[in-house]
Amino acid sequence: MADGAPAARPLGVVGAGTMGRGIATVAARAGLDVVVLEPSPAARERAAEKPARAGSVRVVDAAAGLAECGTVIEAAPEDLGLKRAIFAELAAVVAPDAVLATNTSSLSVEALAATVPDPSRFLGLHFFNPVKAMELVEVVVGGRTAADVVAHGEELARTLGKTPIRVADGIGFLANRCARPFTTEGLRCAAALGVRPARVDLACRLVGFPMGPFELIDLVGADVSLGVAESFFRQSFGEPRWRPHRTLVQMVAAGRLGRKTGAGFYDYDPASRRGPDPAGGGPGLLTDPRRLEELAGPEAVAVVGWISACLVNEGAFALEEGIAAEPDIDLAMRLGYRWPLGPLEIGRRLGFAAVHRRLVGMREDHGEAYRPAPRLAGLV
Ligand code: NAD
Repeated sequence: MADGAPAARPLGVVGAGTMGRGIATVAARAGLDVVVLEPSPAARERAAEKPARAGSVRVVDAAAGLAECGTVIEAAPEDLGLKRAIFAELAAVVAPDAVLATNTSSLSVEALAATVPDPSRFLGLHFFNPVKAMELVEVVVGGRTAADVVAHGEELARTLGKTPIRVADGIGFLANRCARPFTTEGLRCAAALGVRPARVDLACRLVGFPMGPFELIDLVGADVSLGVAESFFRQSFGEPRWRPHRTLVQMVAAGRLGRKTGAGFYDYDPASRRGPDPAGGGPGLLTDPRRLEELAGPEAVAVVGWISACLVNEGAFALEEGIAAEPDIDLAMRLGYRWPLGPLEIGRRLGFAAVHRRLVGMREDHGEAYRPAPRLAGLV
């Protein structure tokens, strides 16, 4: 049996890839002693490269090296079978009171918790990329996670300088789910309204989003974006809101994956830099269509109206399903995606009744993807 409470023992991190390295570095800088488990010799070397400022980072190549850890955060590849095998092995070496956490973005925390003897010591700690810069950590509460384990996860996130937000174990948890309509509806409204990607992106940037849907897809990669869309659609057994868009399928088939292939919705040669945005943008434009039209034309008003209604609707669905508390839904989107306002804040600005009316009209014209969340009526 290890000495002291879980928080007093070293932090284990499984996987020294993009996320594992980020978590280990942030933890060491916060003064924690960190043990990283990584099977790949090349990745082990990279993980040991960064000298920690306050705490220490030790890299090991077998689960036994994590035996003394009070908490272990798993950041191995997104594969259910692999993660299950990792947790079964971890549970056999750590003390019974150790807390086991997964950084999964899309797998069910409950499905992973089922592999350990005591699921009450299991939870999700979902960090965002890049870990160093992103303040949000979703603390994903599984069906059997104990209250003290949730509190421990929140405290650990705070120790690492992050803002924990408690979320339920729903599809995509909170932030990635609320962000779904941004890209999907960007694609849909461009096609339905006949607006070019660059004009959709400009409209979104003007109201304060850090980038538009097409710029975001190019940054993330059309293949990754399609993979996420397919995962949501599959897990929800065909929810119409989450149906992947055919344009994304075509982009992937054409090998136009975005920045990483040099071309996506945009071409990424140095000569094709985008010009500066018109001055006077910001979320105030959400409720000032005249000004938005002056700056970027009537199509910008149509695009912003379409996308924002869908953002509000997804936020209302998340609220209704008990994924998170109302203020946390907004905070998660400001911290996790750098939105100027959260979805329910946008709803409040636009008026939930107006959003509801717009969705009713969109549903008549474009189908069930636009059925208003029942909770919207309550927010009105
Ligand atoms: P990655 O591929 O960069 O890193 C995974 C690491 O795990 C690699 O170093 C690999 O060698 C190692 N690994 C492979 N098999 C292992 C095993 N059996 N035991 C221990 N380590 C093993 O992946 P990533 O992007 O860091 O993602 C890790 C997890 O974090 C995934 O679940 C992913 O969904 C999630 N996540 C990723 C991001 C992101 O933007 N990259 C954001 C949030 C969450």
